[in-house]
Amino acid sequence: MAKDPNDFSEATKTKVFKRAGYQCSFPGCSLALIGPHSDSDGGGTVSTGEISHISGARPAANNRYKSHLSPEQRCHHSNAIALCRTHAKLIDSDEDKYTVEVICAWKEEHEARISKRQAGERFDEYYQKPYDKCSNEELLDDRNYRLGLVKEDSEQRAAKAFCMFGISALAAGVIYIVYLFLGGMHLYLFIAAIVLIVLPVVAAFKVLEEKSEFIQRQEAVIQEANHRLKERGVI
Ligand SMILES: [Zn+2]
Repeated sequence: MAKDPNDFSEATKTKVFKRAGYQCSFPGCSLALIGPHSDSDGGGTVSTGEISHISGARPAANNRYKSHLSPEQRCHHSNAIALCRTHAKLIDSDEDKYTVEVICAWKEEHEARISKRQAGERFDEYYQKPYDKCSNEELLDDRNYRLGLVKEDSEQRAAKAFCMFGISALAAGVIYIVYLFLGGMHLYLFIAAIVLIVLPVVAAFKVLEEKSEFIQRQEAVIQEANHRLKERGVI
């Protein structure tokens, strides 16, 4: 069968999948759209994603078909969005709700999010919907995810502080040996002791105490989640 000129080429689909980081672009979904095949020897992959038309390829109910667009415009990557199967189906269920503008905004936000993740930025928007609209499971899930972030952060800070205490202890040992060697306290030795013993300890306490703005935000949201979960009688 001849290919419909309104459909995406494989190269376009791959481009859109890659730009989406092979994740569903629906707000709060982020489902992985590609994964390993169980046959690890073959090195195969399993794809579960769809590349959907933002404005429909052919006239159909609720697919945002625009008659004025050319086939080139319809099959262009700018008219495509990577979604999981559920959300690919969902967007063609109600074109009043899922308008071209709404879907383009999801795509833009998703690509921006992927870009930030790629740059190593940690992400605190989990469900991306207000807590009062989350089910109990979503709330618990979100809270636990954030608790994990806070725990990871405090472990990292503890490890950093431990290293600094170690440096301080090592310096104390060396300075003590030099002190014995010199047979008394020397001004330079005293300055070295301040710098190498005291400063790392001060820095270590600072690291232990100082929470980033990101972590403080997580803690505030965890508190809010706990409050709501208590209200709903879940915890
Ligand atoms: Zn999805």
